[in-house]
Amino acid sequence: MATPRDHASLADQVEELLATGGPLPIVSAGDPVLRRGTERFDGQLDAPLLARFVEALRVTMHTAPGVGLAAPQVGVALRIAVIEDPAPVPDEVRLARGRVPQPFRVLVNPSYEPVGPARAAFFEGCLSVPGWQAVVARAAEVRLTGEDAHGRALDEVFSGWPARIVQHETDHLDGVLYLDRAELRSLASNQAMAERWTQPTPEEAAKALGFELP
Ligand code: ZN
Repeated sequence: MATPRDHASLADQVEELLATGGPLPIVSAGDPVLRRGTERFDGQLDAPLLARFVEALRVTMHTAPGVGLAAPQVGVALRIAVIEDPAPVPDEVRLARGRVPQPFRVLVNPSYEPVGPARAAFFEGCLSVPGWQAVVARAAEVRLTGEDAHGRALDEVFSGWPARIVQHETDHLDGVLYLDRAELRSLASNQAMAERWTQPTPEEAAKALGFELP
C-alpha cells in the first residue's frame, strides 16, 4: 500500500514542478498517478503556492491546447482541476453538441451528480491519451459542487459541452479515464477523426463502426 504524501512533501513536489517555469509536462495513461485517486485539498499548498500552481495548470492547458486539466495529469495527486473552453466551433457543431464558451474556472474538491436521466454521446479526447478519441455517453446535465480557488462554495448546474468537461475532469480526480466509460468500438485515431468523423454528431460513426448510442 502506498504511503500518502504528507503536507510538506506535496508542497515540495509542487514547488519542484513549478521551478522549471514553463508549461508543465503532462503525464500519460499508464502512469499510476492517473489511477490512484487524489487527496481532498485542505491547505496542503499555502495560498501563494496554490495560486502559482493554478496558474501553471492554466498555462499548461492553453499550451496543450485543451479545455480542461486535472492536477493528476501533471503528476500531483490533489483534488484540483481547471477548465476553460473558448469553443471556436461552427454554429452547427455548437448547436448539436451544446458547445458554448466556458470561462476559466478553478474546481477545488469537485464532485458531480446527474440532473435528470438525459444522456449525451459524443467523441471526446484526453491530453493524457494523446492521438485518440472515443464516444462517451454522459449525463447531459450535472450539478457540480465543491469550492473555488479561494475556498468559496461552488454549486452550479452545467449542461451541454461544459457538463462533459466537468465530468471528464472530476473523473480524473477519482482515478477514472474517459476510456473507462467509452464505447470502445468508437475508438478513433486523430487522423481517422479528421478524415471521417467531423460531423456534429457521432451517428454516422456509430453505424460504420458498429456501436450503440443512447
Ligand atoms: Zn483527460
